[in-house]
Amino acid sequence: MSAKIIDGKAFAAGVRGRVASHVARLKADHGITPGLAVVLVGEDPASEVYVRSKGKSTVEAGMNSYEHKLDADTSEATLLALIDALNKDPAVNGILVQLPLPKHLDADLVINAIDPAKDVDGFHISNVGLLGTGQKSMVPCTPLGCLMMLRDHHGSLSGLDAVVVGRSNIVGKPMAQLLLGDSCTVTIAHSRTKDLAEVCRRADILVAAVGRPEMIPGDWVKPGATVIDVGINRIERDGKTKLVGDVHYASCAEVAGAITPVPGGVGPMTIACLLANTLTAACRANGLPEPE
Ligand code: NDP
Repeated sequence: MSAKIIDGKAFAAGVRGRVASHVARLKADHGITPGLAVVLVGEDPASEVYVRSKGKSTVEAGMNSYEHKLDADTSEATLLALIDALNKDPAVNGILVQLPLPKHLDADLVINAIDPAKDVDGFHISNVGLLGTGQKSMVPCTPLGCLMMLRDHHGSLSGLDAVVVGRSNIVGKPMAQLLLGDSCTVTIAHSRTKDLAEVCRRADILVAAVGRPEMIPGDWVKPGATVIDVGINRIERDGKTKLVGDVHYASCAEVAGAITPVPGGVGPMTIACLLANTLTAACRANGLPEPE
């Protein structure tokens, strides 16, 4: 293996440490404790794990965590009333509604009911528009984490060819906007892309956000490229459950210049960025300078 392994776990620990120090200063100097409210509707086991982990990390960073668990059959009106109350609550700086929502609830309607200033996931239509026009916004956590690791590895991204495989609103599209904002030449690929292998081979930066285990093999990677693997796929191998990404790690690591592992790459950065966004929201709400 020749690629440098980008250690998302260590990088995320650094981000969390910086957030915790800033929170401690906010408390000491201004008496402010940032607060994050997480809303979970129903009992999806993966979502419950994510919500628990977000709550724990929030408290570890010195912030207040407010968990709201609602029954799977909660009505849209009840959920919207809770969001309205959280929007008005000055102790709550960030609101996150865990997705996916049960089918009877309209996720777009619910997300767009969140005060954009408290939308720490960055999914509200106002934040999407602000990001797309290069204005100050709340940036979705997973792509933000990828961008931070890329900037750290490359310094400037200007002029690099970036290929993002996947065009979801949560990962692919905002990732592409962020890379464009850093002056990459960006291609967004998806399930209808012709000759995906050739498109990927052009990339100096290859971001995989597909949701298909080990779909991208090493011979799709340009020698020396940076590979960011967003995928989290649970597979059965040798009678055991294993987490793998959207790239075939062993073969890609032979060719790439740098690569994020799964687990321990993008995943830990997502929660770290959620904490960073909550801190940013608290600073903005109180008219204080934002953390770097
Ligand atoms: P979505 O299912 O919403 O989007 C997947 C995208 O991949 C779509 O745009 C789809 O194209 C494209 N795609 C699917 N199959 C192919 C194919 N054969 N060739 C090319 N493109 C294809 O997924 P998400 O964006 O929500 O998530 C992507 C992955 O990232 C998942 O593994 C998910 O678990 C992981 N994830 C990880 C996070 C983290 O914290 N690390 C956070 C969020 C997600 P089309 O639009 O044409 O259908």
